Amino acid sequence: MRYLGSTYIAVAILVLTFVLGLYVDVRSEDMHVRHLGISTRLERIVRLEQELTSLLSGAVLEEKLLRVSRYDSVDEQLTTTVGAVAELSRELELSGDISVLLELQQGLRATEARSLRHMRAGNWRRARAVLFEEDYVLAKKIYEITTESVISALSDELAERARRLEQMRQLTYGLRLAALGLLVWVGLMFSRRLRSEVAAQARLQQTIETANEQLEASVRERTAELQAANAQLAALSSTDALTGLANRRRFDEVWAAEWQRAARLGLPLALALIDVDHFKAYNDHYGHQAGDVCLRQVAAILAAEVRRSGELVARYGGEEFVLVLPGATAAEARVVAERIRTAVQVRGMPHEHSPVAPVVTVSIGVASGLVQRAEQAEALLKEADVALYLAKDQGRNRVLTAA
Ligand code: GH3
Ligand code: MG
Ligand code: MG
Repeated sequence: MRYLGSTYIAVAILVLTFVLGLYVDVRSEDMHVRHLGISTRLERIVRLEQELTSLLSGAVLEEKLLRVSRYDSVDEQLTTTVGAVAELSRELELSGDISVLLELQQGLRATEARSLRHMRAGNWRRARAVLFEEDYVLAKKIYEITTESVISALSDELAERARRLEQMRQLTYGLRLAALGLLVWVGLMFSRRLRSEVAAQARLQQTIETANEQLEASVRERTAELQAANAQLAALSSTDALTGLANRRRFDEVWAAEWQRAARLGLPLALALIDVDHFKAYNDHYGHQAGDVCLRQVAAILAAEVRRSGELVARYGGEEFVLVLPGATAAEARVVAERIRTAVQVRGMPHEHSPVAPVVTVSIGVASGLVQRAEQAEALLKEADVALYLAKDQGRNRVLTAA
């Protein structure tokens, strides 16, 4: 706002100095023309006056009739010129002197008129007396002195006016310079303010960018945390808490996916159901806690035996486990099942109340087939279950394949 006010002031000063300059120029020109006019007319007055005097004195001295028409014409010219000077000097201080000059001129003309009348009457002695003996000569002298003083006053006045106009011109230049200085100052201030605003903007931008980066970093951090938590949650939801194996839910997913894959590729899919023998008796004899430990050990053996990628071992429920062997024929599945059964027995976990062996054993039912429809997958499970039932029925601690 401050800068805007200064700009207005500077522009106002510039306009003012422009107008003032114009005025000074016009006045100077006018004064010059006026003074020139007055000075040439004053010179003319002196000349005309001399001419009149010589006309009159010539006539009186030679005692011959004055050529009145000529005298009147020169006199008229003189009167007109004096009037013009009075007109031109109206604005000047010397207009007072011009009035004095006019009065003196009228006095002279009156004396000359008297002398003329005597000449016409042939009274040369009286005419001469008027011109040379009365106060005409004195008045003439005063008239000349006054004319001179008017000329001198005029030149003084001229010089004074010229000086004042020059002062005004100098003032105009000074004001213009001041206005320009003011404009430059406003420009400088404005650009400084602009620069500081730009810098503040940049700082703000920097702050925003930093805040954004921090926000992005914290969002990334949070996202990573969430992803980890989700992964943990997914693992938990598909893991059996007791044994750490895949749970039934996970088995269902894998079983569906593997069945679809096998159907698509036209490959066989094998399945083995593993059940601990006489586990109720184990629990009853060693306690439920010991039963849990036993289940964990069986689970560990299963996990160690199932090594190929794509194969899955899961807790099917209670003391039953399930094994998915993609691409395996019944014979291949049977080999894996047999290896597992032996491994459990060889581990030698005591089971005193088992009628089968003094150690923990498992029975396994195996089924394999080419799967083409969903019902077939279900049927395969059923077959494995039947095989397991038969294994139990035939004395346990054995592997049986569905017929
Ligand atoms: P079979 O040889 O015919 O399989 O006889 P079994 O006793 O193993 O069969 P049954 O189904 O009668 O008994 C299974 C027992 O497994 C019953 C249950 O108490 C026990 N059991 C199931 N889940 C757990 C578990 O998570 N921990 C423990 N300690 N025992 C369990
Ligand atoms: Mg069972
Ligand atoms: Mg059992």
